[in-house]
Amino acid sequence: MDDRSLSERRIPRWLVVLVVFTATVALGLTLGVLGLGSSDQRRAGPSVPTAPPTADPRAGTDGRPADAAQQTKDQAEITSLLDRRAAAFRDRDRAAFLATIDPRAPAFRDAQGAAFDNAAHVPFASWEYDIVEAGAFALTDARRTELGGTATATAHVDLVYRIADFDAAPVRSAQYLTFVARDGAWYLAADGDGAPGGLHGSVQAWDLGPVHVLRTDIGIVLGIGGQAAELPSYQKDIETAVVDVGEVWGGEWPGKTVVVVPADQAQMARLLGAEPQQYARIAAVTTGERGASAEGAAADRVIVNPDAFRELGAVERRVVMTHEITHVASRAFTRNWTPTWLSEGFADYVGYLDSGQSVRSAAPELRRDILDGKVPQSLPADEQFTTTHEALPQAYEMGWLACRLIAERWGEAKLVEFYRAVGGPPANGSGPPDQQARLAEAFNGVLGTTPDDFTRAWVAYITAQVQ
Ligand SMILES: [Zn+2]
Repeated sequence: MDDRSLSERRIPRWLVVLVVFTATVALGLTLGVLGLGSSDQRRAGPSVPTAPPTADPRAGTDGRPADAAQQTKDQAEITSLLDRRAAAFRDRDRAAFLATIDPRAPAFRDAQGAAFDNAAHVPFASWEYDIVEAGAFALTDARRTELGGTATATAHVDLVYRIADFDAAPVRSAQYLTFVARDGAWYLAADGDGAPGGLHGSVQAWDLGPVHVLRTDIGIVLGIGGQAAELPSYQKDIETAVVDVGEVWGGEWPGKTVVVVPADQAQMARLLGAEPQQYARIAAVTTGERGASAEGAAADRVIVNPDAFRELGAVERRVVMTHEITHVASRAFTRNWTPTWLSEGFADYVGYLDSGQSVRSAAPELRRDILDGKVPQSLPADEQFTTTHEALPQAYEMGWLACRLIAERWGEAKLVEFYRAVGGPPANGSGPPDQQARLAEAFNGVLGTTPDDFTRAWVAYITAQVQ
């Protein structure tokens, strides 16, 4: 952008960063799948009985006569196939892993072999497949003919894995798989047949290229592609950031993190299941589950935008990494009702601490608005944090200054206490609290003020800060 080059010290627009929550996304996908039902079985018509909903989901098969015993046998064999596949992966037994792949799908087999090899250096503590829904999508007649075999089946299967020493809870990664029976055995034939119906499997680092691994006690960096030489600089960023975050947040988090470094911005988007341009302005993203327990029952990932990082100076890199690791640390107290201005503002507050960045250089868009007479009168709504929102930079800047105001007027410890009060668990026996009600409670209980009084103080503060 032209205006970026005007000021060397300015942190560019795409420095702004956000947090997305894979668990929420995954839940949405699961609900969508359940809505579809066992379409393969339905399409097969009355000659094949539709499987009743079951608490024990099994792979759904079709193309065979209505024979319950045969169906049960097929489902058991597909489950066994997935178990063998998982065991082969854990044992690093490439031949056994590829023996589960359809011999008539050479391109898929090559891709599976590549992913197996790409993951060779990643230290896994566990790796399993969990059938979430049998018959999750329908195959077209043409596709079924192409596959051949004596029967076909589809399923939504979650890959469930943990990285050793870093993931306190497993990561669930959705896959939409096609199986085919031929010559008396079941095989995995494809993982892309759900895509025409909008069922795209999650992409993991090893699906994109060889994964280089650099680990210390507090950080593991997974670098995709030929960029092993860049990994130590990321490890250094993590080490500084973990210390900085701990000084503000305290010790109640695992104090370590997983950082994924894609080869380029396009790979970053694929890891996030997004369109390539969706993260064009974003330097890094933290994924994880809201409200995970403080003991670290989370499996967070900081995914950086390498195109952005390559342009950042040392200070900016540190700001971004500290921002993201603040999200990781505060995960247990970041809930659906936490306003985004608070979660992003707090992450920016920690990120910018000791960075030497002035309001002039770190909040240029908000500054320009205010000097032009456009003074915001309320804290930014969650919607203004959409990655493609025109006024996204201002939203971050407003959240940052709100947190800075709290730290300056009430003290940093009160800011942390306020964050924890807003994101604390619901009262016993009640549902999720209303965002505004919870905020009012925290403003009153922790800061001794009201949302309206705070907003007025904040408007005065940002107006004075940008002069
Ligand atoms: Zn963020």
